[in-house]
Amino acid sequence: MTTAVYPGTFDPITNGHSDIVMRAAILFDRVIVAVAASPGKRPLFSVEQRVALASEVLADLDNVEISPFDTLLVDFASQHDAKVILRGLRAVSDFEYEFQLAGINRRLAPDVETLFLRPAEQYAYISSSLVREVAGLGGDVSEFIHPAVQAALKRRKL
Ligand code: ADP
Repeated sequence: MTTAVYPGTFDPITNGHSDIVMRAAILFDRVIVAVAASPGKRPLFSVEQRVALASEVLADLDNVEISPFDTLLVDFASQHDAKVILRGLRAVSDFEYEFQLAGINRRLAPDVETLFLRPAEQYAYISSSLVREVAGLGGDVSEFIHPAVQAALKRRKL
């Protein structure tokens, strides 16, 4: 059984993230969406809220689990018997940071592979930060996020 971990801040989960998870759910026996506490990023939503939203959005995918984490990613992967770390690549601009991250994770855990997946074209320019920004300025973000996420942003008056 191959387990893959898809880590991120998911503040909040977007249709781009979901697209990656759906692709991964076909490729791997088990996919764990690992929601990083990321206090340094001062997330809009608490880790509990981010986990709850991701769980609601991805509820139909039977082999997908959502879990919070605040440890080293490679330790989380090893605790869950995952040999694969998944990341999404939207554009060349993602590459440098992702390349560094994959490099350090390989040094820390040589037996864990980082794999990159591409979302469908229409999601390639969506990011959680843009969704927060556009929603905060009153723009319509309904085509980028699940209705549950939209409702959560409304509750935050975004
Ligand atoms: P992080 O803080 O770890 O970058 P994010 O939640 O922003 O957390 O992103 C998690 C992963 O999902 C990253 O690999 C990122 O490149 C990828 N990702 C973010 N938005 C999209 C999208 N629209 N399409 C595909 N991948 C995405």
